[in-house]
Amino acid sequence: MSVTSSGLDPVLAGRLKRDAAGLFPAVVQQYDTGTVLMVGWMDDEALHRTLTSGRATYWSRSRREYWVKGDTSGHVQWVRSVALDCDGDTVLVQVDQVGPACHTGALSCFDGRALPAALGSPQGPTPPTGDPDDDR
Ligand SMILES: [Zn+2]
Repeated sequence: MSVTSSGLDPVLAGRLKRDAAGLFPAVVQQYDTGTVLMVGWMDDEALHRTLTSGRATYWSRSRREYWVKGDTSGHVQWVRSVALDCDGDTVLVQVDQVGPACHTGALSCFDGRALPAALGSPQGPTPPTGDPDDDR
């Protein structure tokens, strides 16, 4: 998809940095709790639709089609704000999520999926906890 074929504001389109497929990641966050819900992919048109429709809209890399979150699941994301990051290569979409964001039924795609990680501190690292039930 070329830039000119989307309805996106050309000034904004000029600030976007896309990957080789013309896509950029969208980090999706619950607007009031700050919970990171999921990451999706957008192209210019998906961003344009997200900015103008009030519904978070993505590009599905597997199905190769636009995807309005909630159209099939009912788990709608009502857009509350959209921001472009400092490098212009990632957008942050703050939404009011209806139901779970993840297709597994979890609120967040990251729920219960912690990896073992050494915890950093000024005193140096502590060994990884690796407890997948650790809910921080
Ligand atoms: Zn998920």
